[in-house]
Amino acid sequence: MTDLEPIALPTTSDGWTVWLEERGRGSLRSAADEIAALKTAHPGDTAILQVWNDASVALGNAFAATSLMSSVHPDADLIELAESIEVEARRFSSDLYLDRAVFERLSSVRQDPLDDGARRMLVDALRAFRRSGVELDDDTRGRLRDLNERETELGQAFARNIRDGRREALVPASALDGLPPDFVEAHPADDEGRVRITTEYPDVHPFLTHSRDAEARRAVAMEYFNLAWPENDAVLGDLLRLRDEKARLLGYPNWPDFDAEIKMIGNGAEIEKFIDRIAAESHDAGRRDLAVLETRGAEEGIDRIDLSNWRYCFEAVKREQYGVDAQEVRRYFDFSRVHQGLLDVTGRLFGLTYEPVDVPTWHDEVTSYDVHLEGTRIGRIHLDLHPRDRKYNHAAQFDLVPGVRERQLPEGVLVCNFSRGLMEHHEVVTLFHEFGHLMHHVLAGRHEWVRFSGVATEWDFVEAPSQMLEEWAWDAAVLQHFAIDADGNPIPTELVERMRAADEFGKGFLARTQMLYAAVSYKLHTDVPDDITARLFELYPEYSLVAPLDGTHFHAGFGHLEGYSSAYYTYMWSLVIAKDLFSAFDPDDLFAPEVARRYRDAVLAPGGSKDAADLVADFLGRPYNTEAFSAWLNR
Ligand SMILES: [Zn+2]
Repeated sequence: MTDLEPIALPTTSDGWTVWLEERGRGSLRSAADEIAALKTAHPGDTAILQVWNDASVALGNAFAATSLMSSVHPDADLIELAESIEVEARRFSSDLYLDRAVFERLSSVRQDPLDDGARRMLVDALRAFRRSGVELDDDTRGRLRDLNERETELGQAFARNIRDGRREALVPASALDGLPPDFVEAHPADDEGRVRITTEYPDVHPFLTHSRDAEARRAVAMEYFNLAWPENDAVLGDLLRLRDEKARLLGYPNWPDFDAEIKMIGNGAEIEKFIDRIAAESHDAGRRDLAVLETRGAEEGIDRIDLSNWRYCFEAVKREQYGVDAQEVRRYFDFSRVHQGLLDVTGRLFGLTYEPVDVPTWHDEVTSYDVHLEGTRIGRIHLDLHPRDRKYNHAAQFDLVPGVRERQLPEGVLVCNFSRGLMEHHEVVTLFHEFGHLMHHVLAGRHEWVRFSGVATEWDFVEAPSQMLEEWAWDAAVLQHFAIDADGNPIPTELVERMRAADEFGKGFLARTQMLYAAVSYKLHTDVPDDITARLFELYPEYSLVAPLDGTHFHAGFGHLEGYSSAYYTYMWSLVIAKDLFSAFDPDDLFAPEVARRYRDAVLAPGGSKDAADLVADFLGRPYNTEAFSAWLNR
């Protein structure tokens, strides 16, 4: 096996421009050359599949580089360049999948003699062409081309408005009462005795959770739930109408039916059924949780659990009734120890070693590692974990290079926004979650067909491996490896037990919130409303147990509406499967090597080379079911 080299990233700002031009536009030129060659290939020649794969590798490289750099690069000009190349890549892709000549050449290859992998790849490619409208008449294809172009612009605008739309509230310094000392220190008062709280995660989440000042919490919540308002209201409306038109042109009743066709769930009606089933299953538990929160809130004159106080009441219940004080817990989660601990834990679990490498990246705070499995370097990872200006402001895994057997080494990136000093436990859970995606990207990076590389399974399965890995961040034996306070004491088992008990609180309540998001994502796409805010306020009481605040516009900052469109249900769907997958592990010995390695090889390494339902069945020895999930929800 060839030892593949990671790519070299530039060191100067000019170097970055050259690199991005080459990696972006250069790759698009290579893809265009391959496609030209494909069109002149002899019909029926199986070499057509190789040429198609070559073009797909080049196109994948262009998308990975531009999408990552537009999200993380500190230089505004480079972000702009990345976005403009991304537009070109999307245009190229849109034209490609509407190109009859390419479709005919691919269709000319006989499927019977192919091996399973090649056949699966070909069937998938032909389906992608059909779903793009390649078989429709010229006028319709022309319209689809325009819609695709506009969809790219709208999607970028929606994400950009959220990324650049940081807002802030000025609140009295006394509102920091309840927050930890390092937070207070990082928020000095101005001449008028006010402090600035931004809508960035490390600011807004602790503040809404801990500040004892109800009015200040409300002021911060009003900013947070107005992120990208009003700009994104019109952008989203246009995007929803565009998707609806596109789905209808392609012969589907609506966007969710089009979008769900290639997912595990299959069609839009099943999405609605799933949302309603989970909403019903969590109804009683959610009501019980709400009553507890209301009783606690009443002690401080809170008469209604709403967006400005639910986190605060939740935290108070955990602290007072379960004995879990987030600030006491936080003492054990020093960022650098957690960072190393994550590598130690996942290394041991999956039989990997991470070798730190000192290589240039886009920012000094990024740390890079080579990933080795059984003595072979199988990938490189880059961890970009703290907030800064213009950076993507959620948590996600990005690709830098999709891995292809004997051609290119997979490289993946974690983009998060964690505190630099002590972390909250939920941040540790998020870190494990995102790292699950990164492992998937690297471990599945050795396929011949780039279509199967990395996190290339059905989109409503992709969260399952990550949600399962979260379980390791709740295990005392695992945490004690790295959750160590400044005096050298590991986190007590008894505290972790209390954290777990507290985590059980509110499952029903939180499931209802998740179903609100899922319903918003599905229903806005099914019947596009003229007034999105009004529709949102209708859906809130149907699903969520949290009252919305008048004057807020959550949808404008709900980034998933761009990437996930009507498929936010994915998180809960994947969680059902994650709970089932986890049932195969021994909760008393999460490092048991046999089952972890089997999981690595049966579920992660295959990437998209099999249907997700088959991967799960291969691992569990039976089809997946909802038993473990229902037992967990109602325990
Ligand atoms: Zn995820």
